[in-house]
Amino acid sequence: RYANAVALVRAQCAPDELLARLKALERAFGRKRGGQRWGVRVLDLDIVLWEQGSWASPGLIVPHSAFRERVFVLAPAAAIAPAWRDPVTGFTLRQLQARLTRPRPLPR
Ligand code: ADP
Ligand code: MG
Repeated sequence: RYANAVALVRAQCAPDELLARLKALERAFGRKRGGQRWGVRVLDLDIVLWEQGSWASPGLIVPHSAFRERVFVLAPAAAIAPAWRDPVTGFTLRQLQARLTRPRPLPR
């Protein structure tokens, strides 16, 4: 069982500094690093998008590499900011969500 949320955060620092703070929060909530990457965890805080576009540094890639395939991220993100454009694909969150949830056309 898990709860999931997407929030718009106004940060005063660069993305890598923000990630360091998020990791400190995860630690404070008892998450053990070095464990199972996809396993059950107490808290997982990710940076999905950044208002200024793309960011890449050791240990941090924004937009988050998997967000386009994850309904549990895209749906709440598109609800908050449907017109936000993914700098990598050029699609808006609304469009990305539609691509994910639209039933595939039947093969003829
Ligand atoms: P996930 O969040 O994909 O389920 P983890 O929480 O275990 O996996 O993250 C593993 C590592 O991914 C983190 O230690 C972090 O350094 C790195 N990472 C790269 N990009 C991001 C991002 N956008 N947000 C959060 N972590 C990221
Ligand atoms: Mg994470």
